[in-house]
Amino acid sequence: MSLLPPHVARRAEIVVDLAAIRHNVRLLAGEIGPDVALMVVVKADGYGHGMAQVAAAAREAGAPWLGVATFDEALALRAAGDTGRLLAWLTVPGEDWAPVVAADVDVTAYSLADLDQLVDAVARAGRPARLQLKIDTGLRRGGSLPADWPALVAAARAGEEAGHWRVTGIWSHPASADDPAHPANDAQEQVFRDALATAEEAGLRPEVRHIANSAATLLRPSMHFDLVRVGIATYGLDPAPGHTRDLGLRPAMSVEATLAMTKRLAPGDGVSYGHTWVADAPVTVGLVPTGYADGVPRHAGNTAHIGVAGVRRPVRGRICMDQLVVEVAGEGEEPAVGAGDRVVLFGSAPDPTAQDWAEACDTISYEIVSRIGGRFVRRWTDSERDS
Ligand SMILES: *Cc1c(COP(=O)(O)O)cnc(C)c1O
Repeated sequence: MSLLPPHVARRAEIVVDLAAIRHNVRLLAGEIGPDVALMVVVKADGYGHGMAQVAAAAREAGAPWLGVATFDEALALRAAGDTGRLLAWLTVPGEDWAPVVAADVDVTAYSLADLDQLVDAVARAGRPARLQLKIDTGLRRGGSLPADWPALVAAARAGEEAGHWRVTGIWSHPASADDPAHPANDAQEQVFRDALATAEEAGLRPEVRHIANSAATLLRPSMHFDLVRVGIATYGLDPAPGHTRDLGLRPAMSVEATLAMTKRLAPGDGVSYGHTWVADAPVTVGLVPTGYADGVPRHAGNTAHIGVAGVRRPVRGRICMDQLVVEVAGEGEEPAVGAGDRVVLFGSAPDPTAQDWAEACDTISYEIVSRIGGRFVRRWTDSERDS
């Protein structure tokens, strides 16, 4: 992936364990049982883990479906050699649907305008499409509003009868599945059931009806229907902290860097821009050669922790563009690390996790893993196969 020479790769790395992905996929498949299909969502470069690598690992672990947002992502997966069922769901007017139809991707229509584009694409692709319809059951993001749904299903059925496509799926997306007591869950499930009934009356017989994301998969079995779309849980992160039980998911990503130097501070020394942290005792700090240009959130300044020789140590002062400072030893402690030693920004316990970073930065783990990148070099390992 990287054009940099290998010695540069050691400066700061994102290490992805593909065995963890396979483990999580198998665990989730066991959770939903044999009658529900699993779709592993690999959009956004596999939530920062590497789309093609995650896709291959997910297929190997038995995932029958993959999901992506954009056509570009779908075509990139096909170019990487993936031939299984694959759903894409985010387009803008004027995009060309023909290449994805030709590539055997299930496409999603939100509106009659989407169906018009698809009719044209099918003619050019020279083969019928696999079409899924999205109903907006309450998220008020993409999808057909319930008021527009009867017209959409009628047109979809007419197109099916005309041989343009087969309607393979009907789906929606929950707004608050990470909060099981939220009234939107019951409300959305009911709207979805009504929309399915309307589609059935119109003559549609979709293979897969689906609404669940990771949180609904783990917390709301009544939302499983025929298929669940699992993203964050595949990567070993908790979709609903505080609500889920410990399933044994394993974080696949570990973000690591080599200390550029360490130094001893005197009481009164301020650290990094603005001196927002001032040592009140003689402590030792380490220079971590990565920063916000690499996707390390600037909000982590003075709040997040870094794994140093298996101990969580505080980030001191502001995160800079290329660097940050971590306290590696407190007063009276001998530092366990020095220049050249590896530290872990986030990964798996006992090191801090992406969830710990999310809490420190007032965000969600999804944002932490999907934004990390920049000059980090990504490397894929396999803890079950590497010696
Ligand atoms: C991203 C996404 C998912 C996966 O959500 P998670 O919470 O990561 O499981 C599922 N469906 C759609 C439509 C998405 O955009």
